[in-house]
Amino acid sequence: MFNPADKIQDLQFFGEFGGVNPSISDSSTFTFLSAKAMSDTFEGNTEGCYLYSRHSHPSGIYLSQALAAMEGTESATVTASGMGAITPVLLQLCGSGDEIVSSRTIYGGTYAFMKKFLPKFNITINFVDITKLDEVEKAITPKTKVLYCETVSNPLLEVANIEALAKIAKKHNIRLVVDNTFSPLSASPAQLGADVVVHSLTKFINGSSDTVGGVICASNEFINELKDVNTGACMLLGSTMDSLRAASILKNLRTLPIRIKQHSRNAQYLSEKFEQDGLRVVYPGLKSHHSHEQYSKILNHEFGFGGMFTLDAGNLEKANKLMELMQERNLGYLAVSLGFYKTLFSAPGSSTSSEIPMDEQAEMGLTDGLIRFSIGLDNDIERTYQMMKECMKEVGVL
Ligand code: PLP
Repeated sequence: MFNPADKIQDLQFFGEFGGVNPSISDSSTFTFLSAKAMSDTFEGNTEGCYLYSRHSHPSGIYLSQALAAMEGTESATVTASGMGAITPVLLQLCGSGDEIVSSRTIYGGTYAFMKKFLPKFNITINFVDITKLDEVEKAITPKTKVLYCETVSNPLLEVANIEALAKIAKKHNIRLVVDNTFSPLSASPAQLGADVVVHSLTKFINGSSDTVGGVICASNEFINELKDVNTGACMLLGSTMDSLRAASILKNLRTLPIRIKQHSRNAQYLSEKFEQDGLRVVYPGLKSHHSHEQYSKILNHEFGFGGMFTLDAGNLEKANKLMELMQERNLGYLAVSLGFYKTLFSAPGSSTSSEIPMDEQAEMGLTDGLIRFSIGLDNDIERTYQMMKECMKEVGVL
């Protein structure tokens, strides 16, 4: 059985002097012993030669190989941010006149890119409820090139049925692109038939909230297409990850399996407790979650259902009061982003999803009192629960 953590553990990258970490390549450009080798490399014919760091560099290749191993794809390429991974993939796969069918509940930046930016290139988007497979299939036309979703969506935590979506994509000869940012290790979309898996490394994978980064995991053919010096969206749009960052993210990746287990354990505990207290909690690990059973079938169980849950505080005023109080009591930070050792919370309707118009937010169930939690690595989660509960009582949420 595919185990993404074993794939990370089994990697061996040595440094120049036998170091236990690979050496960092601190060069933007690389020399060639012959002019022919240089022109061959420009044409993409010289395996193992480096040309220029916007194309690739050894530190980026180490991290890319590790992430390809984790997702079980042939290849990968790292990028300067998560958006720097998503945007070149869509621009590589779609041209003028093409269409994308996308889940309507996705990260606000991706939504804005699709809705406001891609129409400039005459690329149009059909937003659908990704959990309704008949609606998805109906939205596909002969012009559709991409089916796009997040495994576990930001912020509503809807779970996509990747296996079924992959079948639909194959039937219509279109590519299934999946953002797995919320569920690294827990889900392995490429093993379920996704053609391209992207991540914002900024979140759980790096885990220390000190950088932005992204990755595209796919076939050799598609990664080479993205890096082509004449026609590749990664090469030409230039969202390359720097060597120093690639080296530091690779070191953090090694502890991802133990971090994800702890994030999941803590989020499972708190979501169960708050649900028992009568709050409206959404967490894929709760039996009450719409897709709990379906997600259970494809989950890499030892990593749990992830570190994200949402809780409805009733209205924005109460949500804001609660978040401010929890921050004052040092239970976490009022901040966007996710995957940190400390709990992070924000109200997505007025922050990370504010790109989505209010009427559409309402239609998809994004209420203004909704708080998105990225649960931290807290050692004593029972203590955290008691302290959070106290805050909830004080602001009238409980
Ligand atoms: N995908 C998801 C699910 C996200 O939550 C985010 C950022 O919040 C992104 C992509 C974009 O990543 P980045 O901020 O690294 O560009």
